[in-house]
Amino acid sequence: MSIYTDFQYPTEIQDVVKLFFADAELVSDRADARFSLEETVNGTVYAYTARSGDIAEERKVDCNGTDELQSIRLRKRYAKMAIYDLLVKLTGIQMPWGSLTGIRPTKLADRLVAEGLDWRACFTDVLGVSEEKTRLVEDIIRTQGDLRNISKGTADLYVGIPFCVSRCSYCSFTSGEIDRLKKYVEPYIQALKKDIRATLSFARERNIAVRNVYFGGGTPTSLSAKQLDEIMSCIDIVPTEYTVEAGRPDTVDYDKLDVLRKHGVGRISINPQTFNQSVLDAIGRKHTVRDIYDKYDLAKSFGFTVNMDLIAGLPTETYEMFCHSVDEAIALHPDNVTVHTLALKHGSILKEQSYRASDVGKMVDYSRQRLYAAGYMPYYMYRQKYMAENLENVGYCKSGKACLYNIGIMEEISDILACGTNAISKRVISSENRIERAANAKDVITYIERNSDYIERKFKLFESEPVV
Ligand code: SF4
Repeated sequence: MSIYTDFQYPTEIQDVVKLFFADAELVSDRADARFSLEETVNGTVYAYTARSGDIAEERKVDCNGTDELQSIRLRKRYAKMAIYDLLVKLTGIQMPWGSLTGIRPTKLADRLVAEGLDWRACFTDVLGVSEEKTRLVEDIIRTQGDLRNISKGTADLYVGIPFCVSRCSYCSFTSGEIDRLKKYVEPYIQALKKDIRATLSFARERNIAVRNVYFGGGTPTSLSAKQLDEIMSCIDIVPTEYTVEAGRPDTVDYDKLDVLRKHGVGRISINPQTFNQSVLDAIGRKHTVRDIYDKYDLAKSFGFTVNMDLIAGLPTETYEMFCHSVDEAIALHPDNVTVHTLALKHGSILKEQSYRASDVGKMVDYSRQRLYAAGYMPYYMYRQKYMAENLENVGYCKSGKACLYNIGIMEEISDILACGTNAISKRVISSENRIERAANAKDVITYIERNSDYIERKFKLFESEPVV
């Protein structure tokens, strides 16, 4: 599906058309285009006309009194809405998130409030977001409450363990099977330890208080108990919250949980993704449904706060099967349940197979209704490109059990000191409403070889004032 636009930000327009037509492509000649979006300017008023044949939709916005950044945001918002209106008219289909693409809706709500606008009205009337999704954003903001207030001079520490026991078919992460990367595991642990020690000592020198520690991956528990002990021994602080994304039930055992507990870890994830064995087999998870129950019980016997992830839209999982997964998860009473919508990203096996999920909207609706009824509240959300039916990922928690690290990173309100492969350090420059980043290597070998460079790069990010 071809689109022509003279708008300064053509990919934003393409992203909206992709909500309706996955193959949407920009073309440089208007005559070749099925859709077009043009901008005309009259003083401070910008008009956007979206056209397909004889059908046209127009949106106008007056940018009088705005600074350059605000003006760009407004123009993007209205340009996207013009093409969205046209596509709704042509297809008769409304998207749950309207014309919103690639944005964190809670952050947008904050920004609209800062602009002096009624964010709910903007969501529903200007951006085309459904009432239901607008309510979801409202509930998330309410659940987060004061947890959004993060003190100046603090940061969270992220530690990446890029190994897994096998590759899930929906995964695009750069993690590798631990058996295949065996000879790099030890050098990686040594490089990571150096990174963690240097980072924590840098934080001390700079008076940056490390608030939360989060081990993610990959699957951190694909390492042995001894290896985890060795890495965690470098964490010589007592964080407010200490989380390890254990993830795969088949990597969890008594000895590893014992090490985690010894080091003060309070939260872990045991991620079923589904409670249907045939689906686990279809997505390449090498564990059983029985493992999920057993490892959950084991984790609870240690007293950990436990999160469980589910994915809506997995291959071979029907709506009824997904409902069963949700019901089983709730019956275990985990402290958090995160419901992901399948996102088919480049590099995943499912993407290569051109897999298309169905009934995902129904599945997500079911999970929300059941989780609300069971006393869970949504507390963070993020959306990605390529998500089935343009939906969202939502983390639900029982009262008082929200994960602080997740709120900080998803809302982009906390600074992150990141160690390890595929980890990105972030610094929130709130006065300028932007984020600076320093990314480590995506692959294990480059990270090991250029370890010192990545550590230096991270320090540079945090060297200039102010630390916010
Ligand atoms: S366990 Fe997680 S990181 Fe590892 S392959 Fe599966 S989805 Fe990817």
